[in-house]
Amino acid sequence: MQICVPEFIRAIDPYVPGKPLEELEREYGLKQAVKLASNENPLGPSPKALDAMQKALFKLHRYPDGSAYYLTQALARHLGVTPDCLVLGNGSDDVIAMAVRAFMRMGDRAVMPHPAFLMYDILVKTAGGVAVPVPLRNMDLDLDSMVSAVDGETRLVFVTNPNNPTGRFIAEEKLCAFLDAIPSSVLVMLDEAYVEFVKKENYHSGISLLDRYPNLIVLRTFSKAYGLAGIRVGYGVMAPEVAGWLHRVRQPFNVNILAQVGACAALEDVAFLEKTREVVAEGKAWFQERLAAMGLTAHPSEANFFLVDVRREGRKVFDAMLRKGVIVRSMHGYGFPRCIRITVGLREENEKCLAALDAVLGDIPEDEG
Ligand code: PMP
Repeated sequence: MQICVPEFIRAIDPYVPGKPLEELEREYGLKQAVKLASNENPLGPSPKALDAMQKALFKLHRYPDGSAYYLTQALARHLGVTPDCLVLGNGSDDVIAMAVRAFMRMGDRAVMPHPAFLMYDILVKTAGGVAVPVPLRNMDLDLDSMVSAVDGETRLVFVTNPNNPTGRFIAEEKLCAFLDAIPSSVLVMLDEAYVEFVKKENYHSGISLLDRYPNLIVLRTFSKAYGLAGIRVGYGVMAPEVAGWLHRVRQPFNVNILAQVGACAALEDVAFLEKTREVVAEGKAWFQERLAAMGLTAHPSEANFFLVDVRREGRKVFDAMLRKGVIVRSMHGYGFPRCIRITVGLREENEKCLAALDAVLGDIPEDEG
């Protein structure tokens, strides 16, 4: 092939999506496999969102509203910000892509935790940027080292709160001290994909900090607590000036018709959100208790997933569970080789997951570490 591919594109490790559930079932001869791997909402989409999307189907020959007027207005009301603070995306990763396109030049640096959501690294590299990973310390973001990693070439800093894959959160005073230490010319992407699940009182969303830190972009998504991962809609909240730059590089019809009406309806479905929070909180507590009884530790998490130290190679546990029809996430590539990550599901899914874990542990020897 004679196609010229820039070196910085060649250097990207492609994102490897999980196989569709149906394909796994076929491959392993399974029935009714359970997927607790991608931090999705086990209740499905909100019924109100489903209803609204169904009604919008007959409009699909039209382009979506390029300004996503109604969703922007609804979000502005919901968050207590002005509409010009909002940039909507085809998932929140689209908003990250816009920020990278708008603010990074070839060779510019983006500081990020490691391990972290893989798209930070991939998107920065698509712009010829340099990803600067800062390892976690005792599972928490090492905010001091992240500040030290910022230099004159740094344009972006990624912070995830609560973090994926650990589920740990940053308390308000630590977040503010961190933001104080970052130069105002460097944009901070504060990813709050799991904010709706947080119960801790000393957690504070970045949205109330936007006046103090105009270099802040807060990322949110409808993919998790709102149960709409499949229609792809997320957003960023930021100073209007920053939003203006992102809009310049935004694709004009980046939020599709179903996403716009579905997200509007989901925002109003307060009962569904409450139910989701309840199911996740109960499920987490249930897992914690049962895992402790099995002699395993579930790490505390403020999100809808948690890490379990399985005291043996997590990759093997993941693989053996897969054969029993339960898909969790191996943390091998994330620097936690003895852990798996479990997304909280419905009670029967959680039970099936625990039974599979219990069954496979005996077949895999514990390691000394
Ligand atoms: N940020 C984090 C921390 C995530 O875990 C995810 C999804 N796995 C996303 C962002 C992306 O969400 P979206 O579906 O809105 O693109």
